[in-house]
Amino acid sequence: MTSSSTPRPGSGPVETVAVTAGRRAVYLVVLVVLPVLLLALAVPAAWGWGVGPRDLVIALVMYLVSIFGIAIGYHRLFTHRAFRCGRGLRIALMLAGGMAVEGPVMLWSAEHRRHHKYADREGDPHSPWRYGDSGPALLRGMLHAHIGWFYTARRRSNAQHWVPDLLADPDVRRFDAAYPAVVLASFALPAAAGGLWSMSWAGAWSALFWAGLVRYAVVHHVTWSVNSVAHTFGDRPFRTRDRSSNVWWVAMLTLGEGWHNWHHVEPTCARHGVLKGQFDPSARLIRWFEQAGWAYAVRWPIPSRLAAHRHDRPG
Ligand SMILES: [Zn+2]
Ligand SMILES: [Zn+2]
Repeated sequence: MTSSSTPRPGSGPVETVAVTAGRRAVYLVVLVVLPVLLLALAVPAAWGWGVGPRDLVIALVMYLVSIFGIAIGYHRLFTHRAFRCGRGLRIALMLAGGMAVEGPVMLWSAEHRRHHKYADREGDPHSPWRYGDSGPALLRGMLHAHIGWFYTARRRSNAQHWVPDLLADPDVRRFDAAYPAVVLASFALPAAAGGLWSMSWAGAWSALFWAGLVRYAVVHHVTWSVNSVAHTFGDRPFRTRDRSSNVWWVAMLTLGEGWHNWHHVEPTCARHGVLKGQFDPSARLIRWFEQAGWAYAVRWPIPSRLAAHRHDRPG
């Protein structure tokens, strides 16, 4: 099983590359420990001296930019190519997604394409069903799918194998090379906004805390809940080989990404919330881009394909 000649599906030397100890330490701090710590700190801070309307507004703007950047940019555009758009919008969406501090585009997309290929089977980087479906196994699996895999994975998806299209894109390469500066901007921008708005250092510091640090922690856990919650709970109106599901509150927090069941049927579809009442703000924004002439070749859902994949299909 552990023999190097028979690697587990999805983890061989072509599909994955080793993660160095130093990088795993960075992942542990930035993706696992720090967000949890910040969320814990935010509770007494909110209780003690509160969070004012200025910080709330800046945090909300940063939240929307981050989540739309991940949903529309990193996920639907760069990973799944659900639509095409001009260079300006591509770069803007990349920068917006970068604000979420979830990694460079190629790393994010490579892991996510591997997730789709092996979803909830051996080789999926983050399936909540990895350890089985008894209560304790599922609890452990959900923790693994939510944040555990960032640290425990000894190998990550190989960009050469999973995202050759992005590797060949000079804008993506430049963005990924400049990624540390993007992360810095994700915290410097809200701090500057708070400082200028209040014309004080205190305003800059409190905006850095709420709209920079706490916002990034919230954005992370909201995004990761697609991997954990929307592969565990919720309904599955469409037939898939995996356990992808629809969870309305995850969909609202992620601006449409929690309508995850249809997404696994047709990953290239620009709309994830395809059924009646499934509000998908990210799809709405892509539609506006299309109407403005900024996005084109948008892959909208095809009614006959929706019907063909429904569990309750007549006949
Ligand atoms: Zn999924
Ligand atoms: Zn996807």
